[in-house]
Amino acid sequence: MADTMRAAVFRGNRDIHIEEVDKPTCSPTDAIVRVTTTTICGTDSHIWREEYPVADGRIVGHEPVGVIDQLGEAVQGYEVGDRVVVGAITPCGACYFCQHGDFAQCAGYDDVWGMIGGWRLGNSADGVQADYFRVPYAQANLAKIPDGLSDDDVMFVTDIATTGISAAETANVRIGDSVVVYAQGPIGLSATAGARMMGAALVIGVDSNPTRLEMAKKMGADVVIDYTQEDPVAKVRELTDGRGADVAIEALGIQETFENCLKSVRPAGVVSSLGVYGDKVTIPLEGFLYGIGDIDIRSTLCPGGKERMRALMSMVANGRVNLGQLITHRFKLDEIEDAYPLFSNQEDGVLKVAITP
Ligand SMILES: [Zn+2]
Ligand SMILES: [Zn+2]
Repeated sequence: MADTMRAAVFRGNRDIHIEEVDKPTCSPTDAIVRVTTTTICGTDSHIWREEYPVADGRIVGHEPVGVIDQLGEAVQGYEVGDRVVVGAITPCGACYFCQHGDFAQCAGYDDVWGMIGGWRLGNSADGVQADYFRVPYAQANLAKIPDGLSDDDVMFVTDIATTGISAAETANVRIGDSVVVYAQGPIGLSATAGARMMGAALVIGVDSNPTRLEMAKKMGADVVIDYTQEDPVAKVRELTDGRGADVAIEALGIQETFENCLKSVRPAGVVSSLGVYGDKVTIPLEGFLYGIGDIDIRSTLCPGGKERMRALMSMVANGRVNLGQLITHRFKLDEIEDAYPLFSNQEDGVLKVAITP
């Protein structure tokens, strides 16, 4: 009989629960990692609500910290027992997209492109809300955790931090820039931290949730705007001598915030879009300056791979960013059915949950 393990399995609308399943097997280019801490992502909430499709029976989750349990024979430079993180996106390193540096859009060794093909864990392959998971393309994706860093310290480099921070990098934020970040959920908070790290002189966080606005200040916002109390676009103009921000980051994925980004950015500024849009997005003529404002709209998906993970963990190790402070709730893996509605419905002031097997 095969070894079994516990795993959070998608079974339908608002039905993700623990089942006893077979432990994954390890092919030559894989590793098996024993999970020590994981979390739930907004994307998992979309899966939970059946707004993003995954196969029935799919093990969900894509933000793992753990210990190497098995190594495929082709994987070199690691030992069983090494503590590692694996990014939500697991690029192969060898395909057309990876060789162009577009790791998130990785097409894999068979080099057949599918949208967000680099997102395998908890999407096109089984994920990490389990006792163990299989790491595809392990040689490119196992990132050893520096001594002295806890699971809490590094867990969010796997997804929300790499994604959020990349919004500021994609926008080429420069020293002295003004940056406004629309929505201060976990990804927006990471974008706020990213803008600060890239050298922005003025970082503005927009939300309505007081807990999130408070955390925005801890993550690097100089000014926060509660959009229910004042018009964020007018306030951004006021704070930037009437010009508008150099960079506006969209971290929610709805028309209103996308539009507010366009209206908040100065002529020849950059709108950096992170949100996953569930409905039509349109570009308002006025905000887009009728197409002749030199406004640059860019989008980013979660950069992955072991070098990206190393870079972000070194930022954590050297105190440039504190990601562990985003954890507000803790659950055991067996309690994950309770964690899903709490996180997905944003109950009890939740920002991020930590799940430990
Ligand atoms: Zn995610
Ligand atoms: Zn690839």
